[in-house]
Amino acid sequence: MTLTNAARPAEPSDVKAGSTARERREEKRRRRRTTRAVVVATLVVVLAMGAGGLAWRLVSETDDLAAQNAVATELLASSDGKVAEQTTRVALSAQIGEVDSLLAEPILTRLTIGKADVRASLGAASDAVQASMVEFARSEVTTARKGLATAGNLGEEVYAATKGKGADAAVRARLRAALDTVTAVDVAANSSLSGTDLAELEQAALDLSANRSVVTVATQALYDAQDAVTCPAPDQVWDPDSGAVPKSELAPIPWSPTNLVRADVLDGLIALDAAYSKVFGEHLTINSSYRTYDEQKALYNPSSPIAAPPGCSNHGLGLAVDIGGGVETFGTEQYNWLKTHAKAHGWVHPAFAEPDGRVPEPWHWESVLARAS
Ligand SMILES: [Zn+2]
Repeated sequence: MTLTNAARPAEPSDVKAGSTARERREEKRRRRRTTRAVVVATLVVVLAMGAGGLAWRLVSETDDLAAQNAVATELLASSDGKVAEQTTRVALSAQIGEVDSLLAEPILTRLTIGKADVRASLGAASDAVQASMVEFARSEVTTARKGLATAGNLGEEVYAATKGKGADAAVRARLRAALDTVTAVDVAANSSLSGTDLAELEQAALDLSANRSVVTVATQALYDAQDAVTCPAPDQVWDPDSGAVPKSELAPIPWSPTNLVRADVLDGLIALDAAYSKVFGEHLTINSSYRTYDEQKALYNPSSPIAAPPGCSNHGLGLAVDIGGGVETFGTEQYNWLKTHAKAHGWVHPAFAEPDGRVPEPWHWESVLARAS
């Protein structure tokens, strides 16, 4: 009884106590499972976020590389014909090709390849092209400055030579206005050379070139206006240098040293004379050659077509000779020989002096370098 009694009250208490312990254990297990689940879930989330972040960073890097490559591709296209060193474009093209290949790889491969070196190489190749473009633009500016200076000098010469010679005043005024802008454009171009601004350099080259065109057109217009007044015959061309060739550019004809021609046409005349001498046993008879402006002026008779007005004759440029010794008559052996052989040595009988020309002059011969010959 006692045992039973003693045991009985214990039962509910045991049951209760046992049940509570199990429940606690269950509770603990549940809590542990929950905690583990939470930890695992958190880990999964954290890892997923980390991986996502990493992936995002890698994708972003890839996008940046693609953008940089697009810019480099544009630079490559825009630098065509505009670099001092062609090798810089070849190198950039190769870099762009490498990046294109990389970007064409499967995404996982792309994501696992480091981009920093690739981007640095592409950047360096782009910088080299950019620097070469600046160098090219600077040389363009330098060349264009020389071109404008040459055009400006010629314009000034023509402007001075036409003073008081009757050419249209408005045409002269237009050349003067064009010439007056030359210095300002040149100064601006020169200051662009001290910087490395590509756009500024390219603009300077354009300005120089445009100004040169304006000056050249205005100079030609004044040439034509003066030519119309001074040298109305179509085969005569007015030239500000006619009769004013510097002595340094003239050379005496060796077998007739009082006669001068432009130094650069003398060799041809000497060769022609040597061939002529072999056939006829004597030198070409030179009766006239270079004439100064005043000499031409003295010869000129407005009522006769024989001598051109001063400023219009190729004699005044050292590019014409009058030949005797039989050549002064159409159809002679000497004349016919020259007609056949002179051209091989750079000398011709001009159309205006042919038997059916404006002024039939068998004796007048010109260098092929002469205009309108
Ligand atoms: Zn002549």
